[in-house]
Amino acid sequence: MSATASLPKNLLGWSRAELEQLAVEAGQPRFRGRQTFRGIYARRVRDLGALTDLDKKFRDYLLARYTVALPRSERQFTSRDGSARYLLGLEDGKTIEAVYMPIEDRVTFCISSQVGCAVDCRFCFTALLGVKRNLTAGEMVGQVMALSEAQHVERGAHVNVVFMGMGEPLLNYGPVMEAVRILADPDGLGITLRRITISTSGIVPRIRDLACEAVRPRLAVSLNASTDEQRSALVPINRKYPISELMRACREYPLRPRERLTFEYVLLDGVNDSDQDAQRVAELMQGVRAKINLIPYNSGPGLPFRAPPIERVLSFQQVLADRRVPAFIRISRGQDVMAACGQLSLAGAPSQAAARA
Ligand code: SF4
Repeated sequence: MSATASLPKNLLGWSRAELEQLAVEAGQPRFRGRQTFRGIYARRVRDLGALTDLDKKFRDYLLARYTVALPRSERQFTSRDGSARYLLGLEDGKTIEAVYMPIEDRVTFCISSQVGCAVDCRFCFTALLGVKRNLTAGEMVGQVMALSEAQHVERGAHVNVVFMGMGEPLLNYGPVMEAVRILADPDGLGITLRRITISTSGIVPRIRDLACEAVRPRLAVSLNASTDEQRSALVPINRKYPISELMRACREYPLRPRERLTFEYVLLDGVNDSDQDAQRVAELMQGVRAKINLIPYNSGPGLPFRAPPIERVLSFQQVLADRRVPAFIRISRGQDVMAACGQLSLAGAPSQAAARA
């Protein structure tokens, strides 16, 4: 037997059905799997020996073969505004980032779905890393659990989870949806679906798949441009899924009562921030129940973009308001520790950014 064959397997990310199956294979009734699921995610028990509601024989069975291991916090950068960016180590030695943002009585966790990202948005620091691999469901759920533990966020707190960290979640569709189901399960982390958001650069076929899911989080689309020419230059995936196709999928997306699609629009000085852009964006929103988050660009070393002056941002917002498109200006949190939108890059990325610029 090789040395690695005897390593305990990590149960983090196993679904309710998988744990039920595990119980059955161990000669236990199926409900022991449900108890294990609740113990790991709802009760946040990390030591399988502490699952005292389990039959001792099953507990010993689990202890001999399995473990529950969260991503390790390797570094933490705390912002003046109270948010914190975490560098988290994975079992294979790769690292990812996740961000904790406390806002009044709520907490938002921004989590990663891939190590790096392949989409290559021209204004994004994560893009500079390329994509190394997809994360597992356990590695995504584990980010929420690790940050909750580090920041003492109790179960029952008002928690939002946004898949807006490193990676394009819809290019890691299966594991992301598995993670969503564990996050939203009342016996799992118990976070209501309307507080979970997947943000995409516009992977149209997967938006259509998401529309058919029984357990469906909210959807945000990173638009960032008002014409195909402009968007293809900023978000290269637009060449594959142009704006007309993207907006058709958005118009056909089944929204629940009072639900809106969110469109994110990173405002880049002199690039996509004119009143004409705003007019075209308003036009695109016809027939979609939408709101727009306007995000003045978070500049950093090496990328050739700047945030527009505030008057330009306000003017852009006003054009949308005049066309009855709700638009909100989002000043990203954690900018001083590179935790803001599009800034997640791991240590070393700024020098890569300089190399590309
Ligand atoms: S903005 Fe999002 S989708 Fe685009 S490169 Fe960055 S992480 Fe990937």
